[in-house]
Amino acid sequence: MPTISDAQRLPTGPLLSAGELQTPPIDAAALSMADIRDPALRPIAEKICTRRRLSAEDGMALFETRDIHSLGALANSVRTARHGRKAFYNINRHINYSNICALSCKFCEFHRKRGESGAYEYSAETIFEFADQAAVAGATELHIVGGLHPWLPFDWYTGLLSHLRRRHPQMHLKCFTAIEIDHFSRIARLSVREVLMALKEAGLGSMPGGGAEVFDDRVHDEVFKGKLRSDGWLDIHRTAHEMGIRTNATILYGHIETRRERIDHLIKLRELQDAAPGFQCIIPLSFVPDGSELGHLPGPTGLEDIKMLALSRLMLDNFPHVKAFWIMQTMKLSQVSLNFGVDDIDGTVVWYDITKREGGLGNRHQEQTVADMRRLIAEAGCIPVERDTLYRPVERYPGGWRVLESAAQKGQVHGFQT
Ligand code: SF4
Repeated sequence: MPTISDAQRLPTGPLLSAGELQTPPIDAAALSMADIRDPALRPIAEKICTRRRLSAEDGMALFETRDIHSLGALANSVRTARHGRKAFYNINRHINYSNICALSCKFCEFHRKRGESGAYEYSAETIFEFADQAAVAGATELHIVGGLHPWLPFDWYTGLLSHLRRRHPQMHLKCFTAIEIDHFSRIARLSVREVLMALKEAGLGSMPGGGAEVFDDRVHDEVFKGKLRSDGWLDIHRTAHEMGIRTNATILYGHIETRRERIDHLIKLRELQDAAPGFQCIIPLSFVPDGSELGHLPGPTGLEDIKMLALSRLMLDNFPHVKAFWIMQTMKLSQVSLNFGVDDIDGTVVWYDITKREGGLGNRHQEQTVADMRRLIAEAGCIPVERDTLYRPVERYPGGWRVLESAAQKGQVHGFQT
């Protein structure tokens, strides 16, 4: 079994460079004011061209416009300034270790109580088998999240990570939302910082962005009462960033929240990124009502999805990346979004239990092939770039892969079984 050498340890320390945080100059020639047909968007376009921050009122104007092409052009000008025509994807594997959860959020069709039909919990050995399969497939990342399991002790999670780290030292472990970190803090009677330290020592590489939902007390009390409130979620991510752990952020939109509440959510993320940088990307999650207690709601339309993705790019001027998570946005809309500010379509995923667009437990297998992702990106006029979890380019060669452009890991070679 491989062991971890110093060279294989994940980089820590400085999180995001100033260059990653600031939007580079916009190509004003490529963004012609004459093409902005809605007069309400022209002052916003001027702000974007001169790299001035957008206000909440600007965000509302972007939501209200019917000039979707101009909105897309504005978002794309920022996306192009940051990433050119590159569009990122990764080879990953999601593992949802259990759907047994102490809470019952109304929007969630994933959670079950123990003994309830459909409840499951994977043993550590089963998770190791999934990780082995992912390694064989060349995955660079394991994305591990689950419900708030009432009985699993904290050392089960640290033991899981440390074993995975020893077994597959090359794979990045992106694990546990802020909601789970808060849960661990309670069950282990440790501070959030102590929990994160223990997980980091066990092998945690970064944190996903789930559990944020909508940062608003009204929405919280109506739809996910009992869950960590927004200040707690933001505090945990702040602590992670201070400890050198990069994270992502989400917003779950399209249920009972207002557009203004969405804008306020994005502004809170922007403020935290200013104060304690460490967010890599925003992942706007389109609410899927099927099977949840909010199943009577229609869910967002495609137009609302594309607006939300474009608007996220424009409001979050200090976030390096905007991701369309194809499981919730659909692959077709994710492809279109590459010309509406999005630069990342997530990864191969393979198995995903939390949201099943087709409905029913039989549809957990949700996989994209690398060939399909690259084809979709190329058809959208972009250049496909495989990335690792920290957005470094990955180079493939027969029987292995390596991360490029990182001083910390330059020349490091990761073999995988073939
Ligand atoms: S959203 Fe998360 S915390 Fe809420 S019920 Fe579902 S699994 Fe549990």
